[in-house]
Amino acid sequence: MNPWDYRDLVKADQAHLIHPLHHPQDHTEPLIFVEGKGAVMKDVLGHEYLDALGGLWNVSVGHGRKELAQAAAEQMGSLAYCSSYAGSSNVPAIRLATRLTGLAYPNLTATFFTCGGAESNESAFKTARFYWKVKGKPEKVKIISRQNAYHGVTQQVMSATGIPMYWKMFEPRAPGFMLIQAPYPYRFEGARPGESVGQAAARELDETILREGPETVAAFIAEPIMGAGGVIVPPDDYFPRVREICARHQVLFIADEVITGFCRTGHWFGLMHWGVEPDIMSFAKGITSGYLPLGGIMVSAEIKEVMDSVSPENRWMHAYTYSAHPTACAVALKNLEIMERERLWERAAAMGDRLYRGLRGLSDLQAVGDDRGGKGLMAAVELVADRKTKAPFPPGDRVGPRVRQEMITRGLFPRHLRDIFLFAPPLVVTEAQVDRIVEITRQAIEAVVPGTA
Ligand code: PMP
Repeated sequence: MNPWDYRDLVKADQAHLIHPLHHPQDHTEPLIFVEGKGAVMKDVLGHEYLDALGGLWNVSVGHGRKELAQAAAEQMGSLAYCSSYAGSSNVPAIRLATRLTGLAYPNLTATFFTCGGAESNESAFKTARFYWKVKGKPEKVKIISRQNAYHGVTQQVMSATGIPMYWKMFEPRAPGFMLIQAPYPYRFEGARPGESVGQAAARELDETILREGPETVAAFIAEPIMGAGGVIVPPDDYFPRVREICARHQVLFIADEVITGFCRTGHWFGLMHWGVEPDIMSFAKGITSGYLPLGGIMVSAEIKEVMDSVSPENRWMHAYTYSAHPTACAVALKNLEIMERERLWERAAAMGDRLYRGLRGLSDLQAVGDDRGGKGLMAAVELVADRKTKAPFPPGDRVGPRVRQEMITRGLFPRHLRDIFLFAPPLVVTEAQVDRIVEITRQAIEAVVPGTA
């Protein structure tokens, strides 16, 4: 493309398009993408980039899958949309809800569809409150979540998101939301002698429920592996304890599987690593590999029975125009077919091991404080100013943005949270592409913070 056309697009973008996390500083020279294939995207200027985060953790089957475009075109050609409010339904949504039952945790038997992650978590919170009201415990309304969690940014869901920069200019947060520490092995504080990080973090949940009063707590929400907060992989002893604590205090356990669902971690769903079942599961992203917006919640047979038991006046009065969107559901069905046919959970596990091994090899670099991964295709490198104290770089040094720029120059389109670089390429990423991601990451870090430890 002629660079002048690029300049015109940038000018129009700056004037008319408001972006997620909007700031004009980030839009002086934006990448404007036009096509993609597998794990590679091309911009309007013809430059190619490895897509280090597979879109936003979602393009699991890779870019450019004509099969998904065809599935959408066929459904649009027959019935693009119809209302799925109580009293009407559609075939792709019925088929998809049926397919999910059995694919996900055995206790989850029914699905409500949304358009994305935040709507899913919003639905999960409202469903938890609804459930306790029906059960005669209307005081059970509080939601406990964890520092560094990302659950989305609508007002209520933002209040469960544990990354303060997402609230700063929108506070106050909604009442009734409390945060506890996540089992973040690199930075956890307060483990007692002889206690593991997983045990200590689970104890914090127990203590918080007791302090707040179990009769006031509706639910605990957690990502099986934290994504946007820095790919924080929990120790193996954490989730089994969490499950037991939630059951003991009659607190619903919501698994936010918006990132970890649909093969990303090497299993179909993330908690399967620990043999634990949630009461409600939120999902989005990977269900369509991002080809159309779709998310949802799955609920346990018990919650479904409660939903079905109330009088019509006390119904679960929750809805979205695009819930059970026929075209989005048709694309999801085809996407699941591809995942199954290509056994992408196995590919995620194998490529994830290779990526994690590669990133661990960067530990000789002075700026690398921690590398995380090992469960499928989710990994991160945390850069620090001082490896001994784990002190971060001063924000004024702009280490994260500068490393990002070095990556882009070398053909890697990355995503970072401050100085933590996040990796979740499409599950179809090749061995050579994984190695290239690692190589560019090394070069980019060395270019900004030279020196080995
Ligand atoms: N939950 C998790 C775990 C997520 O990673 C995200 C998005 N990154 C969300 C919820 C919110 O999803 P959405 O942006 O579709 O609202």
